[in-house]
Amino acid sequence: MNNLAKTTAYLNRCSKCGSCQAVCPLYGETKTEPYVARGKLFLLKSHLEGKLPLSSKMKEIMSLCLLCKACVEQCPNSIPVDRMILAARQEIAREKSISFVKKNIFQHLLKNNGRLTLAAQLGYFYQRAGLQWLVRKSRILEVFRGELAQKEHLLPKMAKHPFRKQVPRLFTCSRPKLRVAYYTGCLTNFVYHATGYAVINVLRNHELEVLIPEQWCCGIPALAGGDEKTAIELARKNIDVFQKAGVDVVITDCASCGSMLKEYADLVETPEARAFAAKVLDFSQFLSEAVSFHAGENEIPGLVTYHDPCHLKRGQGVSGAPRKLIKMVPGLAFKEMKESDRCCGAAGSFNLTYHNLATKIGRRKVQNIQQTCADLVITGCPSCIMQLRHVLELEKSPVRVLHLAELLSMTYPSRKANKERGANKTKSRRGRC
Ligand code: SF4
Ligand code: SF4
Repeated sequence: MNNLAKTTAYLNRCSKCGSCQAVCPLYGETKTEPYVARGKLFLLKSHLEGKLPLSSKMKEIMSLCLLCKACVEQCPNSIPVDRMILAARQEIAREKSISFVKKNIFQHLLKNNGRLTLAAQLGYFYQRAGLQWLVRKSRILEVFRGELAQKEHLLPKMAKHPFRKQVPRLFTCSRPKLRVAYYTGCLTNFVYHATGYAVINVLRNHELEVLIPEQWCCGIPALAGGDEKTAIELARKNIDVFQKAGVDVVITDCASCGSMLKEYADLVETPEARAFAAKVLDFSQFLSEAVSFHAGENEIPGLVTYHDPCHLKRGQGVSGAPRKLIKMVPGLAFKEMKESDRCCGAAGSFNLTYHNLATKIGRRKVQNIQQTCADLVITGCPSCIMQLRHVLELEKSPVRVLHLAELLSMTYPSRKANKERGANKTKSRRGRC
């Protein structure tokens, strides 16, 4: 029996109450019933009853989901809609196969760190050798269909070398309280080095030994794209390397990676996978629960708000820890935004595939940010950071977006993390209204 067929019992649980409609960001923008959980479940039920084939339209509808779990949280019948959509995508991938591009990304890039690094470096040279300037200036991408020009603007600045090649493999201290492994995630490794330096800076201010072993993509892009086999292969590689490292805890700065690493227990179903998953903690969760966090003395004047990444709040049940840590930053005022846990539209590569729709979803988030008058937004997912910065830029907003680790790191005496980001820029800022 395939994974989709195993979900039949859940399909029968849907009472069509429509509670999912009120919280679905896709429905909020499109008002289209097949995009909401209830509509998708109806289509899947029809398919399993033999009334509907897995057509191209069905494929498109199943790919139109942010996997944000808002419907799961809202559903009175506890239907794991996101898991069912993933099962449907796997089934579609089996029947219709994965696209050539995705297959190559999942099976040839993600599984091979050398090729992945090369691809990231090509991106770097495209941006730095004047090619990106030329492409944008000539507006050549506007002749192509499929929002290509807008998608190109989403590309963040790539780093020249991977973060893991820039830092030592091991940071020791004389009497470590704990031995911690740092799972950096691909965006920190290839794009957001400032986040990586900040994580290390904060950890080193807490008498911890930090190990950064060789590691692989967590597998979430492959799983979300219907390629469960590749996701399992990547999971096995990571479990093996982190279990051999003999650490007490595995922390990550990426909400999506963190929720995936915790899912390894169910995905791989071995005692090693369960032991590994039990050690995984989000950066904020670790500081809040496993060590006694203390901020540094640097004051950070200003007004800040917080965006809950879906994979942190609903994926891992972590929402109090980051707020608690933010409120410990000297000099900083905190204001909650409306709908702080509504998806920003990033959703892995959703914003690349469906750029216009993702931007509409992002604009609602940006409006909520702007209503707080904050000059700084903190979050815990590099993918959200990319999307929020992109939409804020489209809206010509001066609001800055930082990872929680960057904010906390700025409170300590300056190290490389603070230099990279230009901490004094934030020091002089206050609320904007
Ligand atoms: S909230 Fe749950 S039970 Fe109600 S319509 Fe949506 S999926 Fe069905
Ligand atoms: S997971 Fe999110 S985007 Fe997908 S159907 Fe549920 S609420 Fe809508």
